[in-house]
Amino acid sequence: MSKARILLVEDSELQAKSAIKFLENDGYEVQWAKDGKAAITLIKTHPIDIVLLDLVLPDMTGNQLCHWLRQNEDTKGIPIIMLTVKSEVKDKVASLEAGADDYLPKPYNEIELNARIYACLRTKALQDDLRQNNVMLENLLKKVAVLASTDYLTGLYNRRQFEKVIKNEYLRAVRYNEPLTCLMLDLDNFKMINDSFGHSAGDTVLKEVSQVITACLREIDHIARWGGEEFIVALPKTDREGALTPASRILKAVSEYHVSILPCEEMITFSIGIASIPEPSITTFEQLIHNADEALYRAKKNGRNRFEIHQTAQNLINSRQQDTTLSTIS
Ligand code: GH3
Ligand code: MG
Ligand code: MG
Ligand code: MG
Repeated sequence: MSKARILLVEDSELQAKSAIKFLENDGYEVQWAKDGKAAITLIKTHPIDIVLLDLVLPDMTGNQLCHWLRQNEDTKGIPIIMLTVKSEVKDKVASLEAGADDYLPKPYNEIELNARIYACLRTKALQDDLRQNNVMLENLLKKVAVLASTDYLTGLYNRRQFEKVIKNEYLRAVRYNEPLTCLMLDLDNFKMINDSFGHSAGDTVLKEVSQVITACLREIDHIARWGGEEFIVALPKTDREGALTPASRILKAVSEYHVSILPCEEMITFSIGIASIPEPSITTFEQLIHNADEALYRAKKNGRNRFEIHQTAQNLINSRQQDTTLSTIS
């Protein structure tokens, strides 16, 4: 074990020299400061494990220095033992209140001082261990939180996290009477990719297309891997007409994208289902997702590499278009 490093703050040269002598004999490494200012300079420039602090100093009181050490982020954990001729109870209390860990009246017994230094260092070592363990635990918890909300393959949100996010977006949209659109995306004939090029090639496709889709979205949009070869997107403040642009952009970008490990002619495509609020029949975020899924089913049925809007919504658009046509005719 390396020598413990002591900062001795003592204005009396005579007392300092005798203390340094026995402390060094006991195996400590000692820095000596004659006053508070010198102590602050030394502690800023040298690693210190413990401070032995005289209460009466020429430029400030030991309690003031003690207080400063406790306020300072870099020094607040260093143990401090007060050494002084003032030994009334109120002096001890004042020093402990200023942040000292221990208090020893002068003239002190060397063996007792040594024992107190040892006790302080042991407590500090335990506290350091505890702090280190806490940091490790916090980092571990952060990693667990990321793992719990992320899809391991693509790094996107997983289904559970997306449900939390879209629930919030849904509640916000309803509260502020704003539109919200959900896109459900499914890779077309993906089984064939796995069958022809292997499962790990399939994984690469999933990773790369997830980035292509993300690049088609705004920062405020949310994307997740919903399951297998399905992705899901939430487009806040976007109605169904507004969602047609990102949906078309995704179809185009993915079909034009060449997955790195596949032959050039191999085209990857998606089918997309679109559902939006406001929509009188939707009263929960689960229904919004369900409607997007139904629309996706129609996109598959109608030929793939396309999007479909959920039928109720589509009916509305159609009937609105019909109304316009009729009113133009009449
Ligand atoms: P469709 O156009 O009707 O969606 O056809 P499809 O082949 O994409 O759909 P199907 O449901 O028949 O097959 C989905 C395939 O996706 C089968 C499954 O092995 C594959 N798959 C699901 N998850 C993963 C994965 O994590 N990695 C790989 N490589 N393949 C996956
Ligand atoms: Mg003094
Ligand atoms: Mg599927
Ligand atoms: Mg599929």
